[in-house]
Amino acid sequence: NKILVNPSSSSYPIYFSQNFEDLSLALKDHNLLNRKVCIITDHIVDSYYGNQFVDVLKSNYDDVYKFTFNAGEESKNLDTIQDMYRFFIENHLDRNSLIFALGGGVTGDMAGFAAATYMRGIPFIQVPTTLLAQVDSSVGGKVGVDFLQHKNMIGAFYQPTFVYINLNTLKTLPLKQLSAGMAEVIKHGLILDDNYFSFVESSADLVFDFDKTTLEKIIQRSCELKASIVSQDEKENGLREILNFGHTIGHAIETLLNFKLLHGECVAIGMVGAAYLSYENNLISQEDLKRIESVLRSYRLPVRINQLDCEKIYQQMLLDKKVKNNKIKFILLSSIGKALRVGDLNEDRIKSSISYLKGDV
Ligand code: NAD
Ligand code: ZN
Repeated sequence: NKILVNPSSSSYPIYFSQNFEDLSLALKDHNLLNRKVCIITDHIVDSYYGNQFVDVLKSNYDDVYKFTFNAGEESKNLDTIQDMYRFFIENHLDRNSLIFALGGGVTGDMAGFAAATYMRGIPFIQVPTTLLAQVDSSVGGKVGVDFLQHKNMIGAFYQPTFVYINLNTLKTLPLKQLSAGMAEVIKHGLILDDNYFSFVESSADLVFDFDKTTLEKIIQRSCELKASIVSQDEKENGLREILNFGHTIGHAIETLLNFKLLHGECVAIGMVGAAYLSYENNLISQEDLKRIESVLRSYRLPVRINQLDCEKIYQQMLLDKKVKNNKIKFILLSSIGKALRVGDLNEDRIKSSISYLKGDV
């Protein structure tokens, strides 16, 4: 069961599975045997899946190495990358060696960046274990680290050889992380597919009950939608920008709160802000706006933020690396299931949407 991602630079599959064992088949299919391999993972994922994953690789390779780092966004920096390079060199990894990113988005972004830069690039495989990584970060080839105060400031576009999703890893994922991943899923429905949005809308109980059929459908459809966007616009020169729906305000909140809320939680609040702006601009109805909020709530995501000042949020938005000439590019909805890129919203409109998030409107 697979989906093809087709960006101009290369084409690669996403495999869907319920175990790690089938990975062996994919490795054979891709002619990736007979080399040194290195797993990169954080200490929490290692404690759940490290041994199992090493065993699968040991049935295929003689030399299996594992680099573990402290879980969390705080590790996503160049220091950890340097530790990886050191580890690679100590174990004589060469241009032929293969990296496995086993973990969430932090692991995937860092392992991908290390793979992209070590010896000018060695192959890597994404094995995402959070919902967010499965439906979002492992697909599309953005890799990198945070630098100083700036999120994802240093990075590259570097595609994996393939993505391998083991649905069952989600069983150990904290529910809060599951909700955070659902924010990106809801985003996919809102910007691209109203039927999918309706399906997600009616699936909250099943998702939290870990209904496999529902989760599988969600992960596959989200991957399909993201794959189609990044295949058309690999380097974000246009269309890919719609994936930033909810992120313009979301990123600002995330930074101002010093990452106390999860990325997906901030995106949920940001999507409400963008939906409100869409409503204010007569693009969607008030019913649509309420519907969006209620879906987010049903996935236990926040839809308001009151501990922050409007002006501060606005100023933080202007600092975003995607802002050019003080013009904040917004992704709005022209309807549920259809995104609209807008470059010239006035300051007052934007600020009124932030007030809405504080419950002041
Ligand atoms: P994460 O990798 O930190 O994982 C979240 C937490 O869940 C960690 O503590 C991790 O140890 C734990 N965990 C992971 N898998 C688990 C499992 N199966 N069972 C139990 N615990 C598990 O964070 P994330 O939310 O996956 O990803 C966030 C990162 O992804 C951010 O750094 C963000 O910038 C990046 N991101 C990148 C892209 C992209 O296109 N490259 C897109 C979106 C987000
Ligand atoms: Zn996101």
